[in-house]
Amino acid sequence: MSNMNFKMGDHIFRAEFSFDEISNSISLPLYKVKSDSQPIRHLAEECVKVLEGETIPQCLDYMEKTRVWNMVQSDSRQFEDRLLLVARLIHHPESFLKWPSQEVFNSIVVEKKWEFRTSTEKMRVLNSLRNYLGSIAGAKAIVESVVLAADELFTNAIYNAPFVDANYTLDRATVVVLDSEKSAQLLIAHDHERIFLACLDEFGTLNCEALIKTVQNCLKIGVSKSINLDVGGAGIGIFRVVDLSSEFFAVVEKENRTLVGCSFLLGKSSKQIRLSPKSFYFQIFQNIEFNSSKVRLERRGNNLLLRFIGNFTEPWTLDQLDLDGVDEISLDLRQMESSNLNFLAQNLKFFQKLKNLKCVYLEYLKTANLDEALQIIEEVPFSIEIRSLYVPISCPKGHLTKKVPFFRSLEKIEFDRNFKVPQCPKCNDTMVIVESTKRIIAKADRS
Ligand SMILES: [Zn+2]
Repeated sequence: MSNMNFKMGDHIFRAEFSFDEISNSISLPLYKVKSDSQPIRHLAEECVKVLEGETIPQCLDYMEKTRVWNMVQSDSRQFEDRLLLVARLIHHPESFLKWPSQEVFNSIVVEKKWEFRTSTEKMRVLNSLRNYLGSIAGAKAIVESVVLAADELFTNAIYNAPFVDANYTLDRATVVVLDSEKSAQLLIAHDHERIFLACLDEFGTLNCEALIKTVQNCLKIGVSKSINLDVGGAGIGIFRVVDLSSEFFAVVEKENRTLVGCSFLLGKSSKQIRLSPKSFYFQIFQNIEFNSSKVRLERRGNNLLLRFIGNFTEPWTLDQLDLDGVDEISLDLRQMESSNLNFLAQNLKFFQKLKNLKCVYLEYLKTANLDEALQIIEEVPFSIEIRSLYVPISCPKGHLTKKVPFFRSLEKIEFDRNFKVPQCPKCNDTMVIVESTKRIIAKADRS
């Protein structure tokens, strides 16, 4: 277990590992960020770095080295909110591609969109954007920055996104026309604090590793030199977007869709924003069709995580999938009937064949028979760490319902079979376990 401390204003915050949930719908290994008095928010383990004013090159070096791609400045406005954004981005990246503005602001905000599919539409779109920006209070000082960033995003969507090779880029004089079903979209949204600008394309080709390296290169040899040498590909344009804004977003569903975006604080000058430390939000994932299960391959920091959501009623034939590089597997069992428990146990053994696999998470295992479920988990060919189990209990007379940790310890994970269900404080009746919602979150490490 490790802790980290960081400062925010006059307060020191402590982040510690725990295996906890941030809402009923999100359950992941997480950091719990606490102030001295109370927990403020949670933050995903190995998925986020809290920054203290690091420069762009420092951020990129860290991203390249650790592959932790979400980096939040601790002094950023709405810091807590940004940590939650990271958690959402990791847990349901699809939503950022479907409803980017809603996810970035975590609420419904004013949004305007422009669809485009040819390079010749650029002036039309940018002029319309410029006019629109004139109507946003507090945006006057940053109109040019936003339009410049939009120009780069537009160019990237037309000249780079259709191609898989990150360094391949068309001559800007070439007229490009995308198929109508591959139209790209520029969108802008704002609340009273910030403007979010983004471009969505229907290709999903952005290679984040290559992008980070190219931007690093541009910085090393100088941006103007990179342009002259024509070595930038998507990198130079993206560097400009990072430089002009205060936050940068890249969400990629491989071979399907990409969102590249940035945000600008309202009420600041372009120069202030350019000089401010930057936050980064990256997530890359791929959905794979697999029988009746949903399979999502995603990055979790340095690890490749394979997430299954399914009812697991069919025989698994995982050898259809190339799982060699997979470090972690998470089985989301919320749709599994408890009658399939034995079937799950049989198939867990399959994971032994995966050479790189470090651990398996079992999440949302519901059971009406706790002992049976625990026995099955204990039989899988990994050493088992059961991290936590929450059991909802309620008073039989209905005075009180609460969720109690059944067994759980942060320092040492132990299974406590001697757990005693407490009594209702009002009537002293022994409270009862609510059977239908029992849930086990377990982590099994390779022994
Ligand atoms: Zn009671």
